[in-house]
Amino acid sequence: MLKVCVVVDVENFISFKQGNPSWNSWQKLKGRINNLIKDFRYDKNGFEKIYKLAEKEKFPISFMLVGSLFQPEKSQKFIDFGYHTLSHKPLTLISDAELKEEVKNIYNAKSFSAPMWMIEDSENPSRIFEALKKQKYKITVYRGANNGISNRHENRISKPITKYGIQCVYTSNWFDGERKQKIREILREIMQSSERDAVYCITTHDFSNKNMKNFKFLVKKLKEMQKKGMINIVNMKQLARDR
Ligand SMILES: [Zn+2]
Repeated sequence: MLKVCVVVDVENFISFKQGNPSWNSWQKLKGRINNLIKDFRYDKNGFEKIYKLAEKEKFPISFMLVGSLFQPEKSQKFIDFGYHTLSHKPLTLISDAELKEEVKNIYNAKSFSAPMWMIEDSENPSRIFEALKKQKYKITVYRGANNGISNRHENRISKPITKYGIQCVYTSNWFDGERKQKIREILREIMQSSERDAVYCITTHDFSNKNMKNFKFLVKKLKEMQKKGMINIVNMKQLARDR
């Protein structure tokens, strides 16, 4: 049966200050504008809202925390707290010493997601994975390799793969809270997906869910699909154990 996994990168507004190293000048300008209007457009309390919804609905989910801003809550097993680094640096571009600090497993997490999906550089593809293995992570979100600041990232619906001892779950799609259209597209893709034992991994951010209506809609629809025996909703930690 298709497994569906929802992953929330929990980082508040930290990336607004940092931007993304791969942005071109137009994207940088957009980033600066976004930073100016962030309090209107986005939500500082996105994490609390999504967390409350998941608890209420007993919805399996992974929250990937930026360690300098968030810490895990005492929760039931359907909530998985993974790590999204200490301070959201682009791992493939920083020194070994910085890397060690960024991935240090201070919350004893099993799952991981790298900022901007920068987890594998073609110059030295095993570097980040080895660092994660040392810190006892088991599973990560994955979108493909980087070459410096350029990348060949893609979405896939597939079985997890293993790279250098770390299980990698391809992102299948992503959404931010503002676009119901995207949620419908995701649900359609899940409905049409026929590959057995594949994982459909949906990613989103805490801050981009100002309008929780769409997140609630997604949770409701996925639970209905699960009830009909069409999918199995799991978090990343459960995925790691299932294999
Ligand atoms: Zn992030």
